[in-house]
Amino acid sequence: MATYRIMIDRDMLQNALDTTQAESFTLITPGLIIEIILFGLLPILLIVLVNIKPIKHWGLYLLRRLCSVILAVLLIVLVAALFYKNYAAFMRNNSGIIKYLTPSNYIAAIYNQYDYLKYKNLPFVELGDDAYQEPSANSNGQKNVMILIVGETARANNFSLGGYSKDTNALLAKQNVTYFQNTTSCGTATAYSLPCMFSNMTREDYNPKLANKQSNALDILQKAGVNILWVDNDSGCKGVCDRVPTIDVTQKYQNASKLCQEGVCYDDILLTDLPEYLDHIQNDTLIVLHTIGSHGPTYYQRYPDEYRKFTPTCDTNEINRCSQDALVNTYDNTIVYTDAVINQTIDLLKRYDNRYNTTLMYLSDHGESLGENNIYLHGMPYSIAPKEQTEIPLVLWLSDKYEQQQAVDRQCLDVAAKTQPFSQDNLFHSLLGMFNVKTTQYHAQLDILGTCRTTLNHIEPK
Ligand SMILES: [Zn+2]
Repeated sequence: MATYRIMIDRDMLQNALDTTQAESFTLITPGLIIEIILFGLLPILLIVLVNIKPIKHWGLYLLRRLCSVILAVLLIVLVAALFYKNYAAFMRNNSGIIKYLTPSNYIAAIYNQYDYLKYKNLPFVELGDDAYQEPSANSNGQKNVMILIVGETARANNFSLGGYSKDTNALLAKQNVTYFQNTTSCGTATAYSLPCMFSNMTREDYNPKLANKQSNALDILQKAGVNILWVDNDSGCKGVCDRVPTIDVTQKYQNASKLCQEGVCYDDILLTDLPEYLDHIQNDTLIVLHTIGSHGPTYYQRYPDEYRKFTPTCDTNEINRCSQDALVNTYDNTIVYTDAVINQTIDLLKRYDNRYNTTLMYLSDHGESLGENNIYLHGMPYSIAPKEQTEIPLVLWLSDKYEQQQAVDRQCLDVAAKTQPFSQDNLFHSLLGMFNVKTTQYHAQLDILGTCRTTLNHIEPK
């Protein structure tokens, strides 16, 4: 670690298990031997020489130990409560540092390797082999084209569509969108939420290890004949798009667009390839745009200057140096920009209204804490996570043609959006429902349009 600046994690353990004798010998250097003698053998020798007295009063001894453990835990809780902001930002900016801590690093690596091997050899389970697209009763003969925008770190609380006092959704407010007032996420981090929302498992019975070992909504739609395209401007699709066509626009346009620099791009980049793609659609199509959205702690890097609507802003990754106001302003500007990206995508779909039945859905992966109860960022265990991390925005836009074709009851939908709870559990079934895909995997009661289609009989016997 000291010489090669490596970290001990599961990958490094895997390297050690896979290495050859020749490779191992090249690592055994005089420096290593001196290190082992100085920091290994010498301390052991000193410990051996210590004269250990036998314990006379076990009860008293254990009590004293217990007291010092409790005291230590209390101190840690106190420090965490007082300086959460500093630690949260530091750990986020230096996430690898935990892997330098010995011995927890190799203990965690051993456990992770065991866990990895346990699930690695599980066979892939094909779901939805019975899936097919049922022709719509009111079909107008045109193809259905849906864009699903997967948000990043957008929390419901800061959407003015949901009642937030600052006007963060000025553009979407003018579009004919449905905003779902009460929507929750599956997890509090991308890597957990993303596979969960596309899987047929609900949050209650979700197993992240199994999610990538079975077909998800995209796989089943593809089987049924729907074309899929995943366009990524975030940290990858976490296995969700492994079996469908994918474009990584962050990489593609890194040195080719003014929207990109230093390994990240503004979300506008997601729309670059779309007109060309939309021009050539032959089948029903689902396009997923995976945004970088409001990813922190560098909120100020998520939007171009012209979206700096709320000031002053916090223009550093050390959010502990900013005032609460500045931090929230910066975050709100990311939502203002997200609002513009969604709005622009709807406008783009409108340009194709004469050719396709178009729809758009926007759904965030999880929320974010911005200092409420001194908690920042996201990733808290779900059971104790604050609502800021689990309440997410969900927006649906249906073109008039799609609405007619699918016989969607607008009023029913508006009432449901205002009064009923929704969650990422609904995405799997809603996507299948949007394309009229019939399969035993589909459950109408979890489809957000399921009960609001007037002529299609989607209700299943229970
Ligand atoms: Zn995320």
